[in-house]
Amino acid sequence: MERPNYSEHKTAMRAIGIPLLVTGIILVIIGFVSFASPHPDEPKVGVDSHQEFSEKMDRSSERHMNSMLMFGAGGFMAVIGFALVGASLTRPVSKYYATEMDPALKIAAQSIGEGLKESGAFESKQQKEIIKIKCPHCGYLESEDADFCSKCGKKI
Ligand SMILES: [Zn+2]
Repeated sequence: MERPNYSEHKTAMRAIGIPLLVTGIILVIIGFVSFASPHPDEPKVGVDSHQEFSEKMDRSSERHMNSMLMFGAGGFMAVIGFALVGASLTRPVSKYYATEMDPALKIAAQSIGEGLKESGAFESKQQKEIIKIKCPHCGYLESEDADFCSKCGKKI
């Protein structure tokens, strides 16, 4: 159930992401070039008349605004496109790791668990042997560090 949905998402993300990224980059380049490169219609101080200068200035700032808008929008599109493509590409990788790593992790966890179980069993068995000792006189199970049997009171 999950797989077809997942690959559909992946395909959709790439189908949207790649054109977005490409268009964004193109817009950024066009915007940057038109912003940075001198335009023949740029206002020229001392050459243009006052009216001409202000008219050209208006057109120039409008051009610059457009370039900046294009640059900004292109950058925004490229970032979103990049994120979409990146997500569509990294997801299968993490999925791959998740599925490929799982058995290894399970085996590791199992062996650690078994090791703990074994050492735990070993420990408790040893603890029984160490702590409990049979009184040689009455057979009462007394802790080993006790000097006298708590039942019969004789020295162990
Ligand atoms: Zn005893």
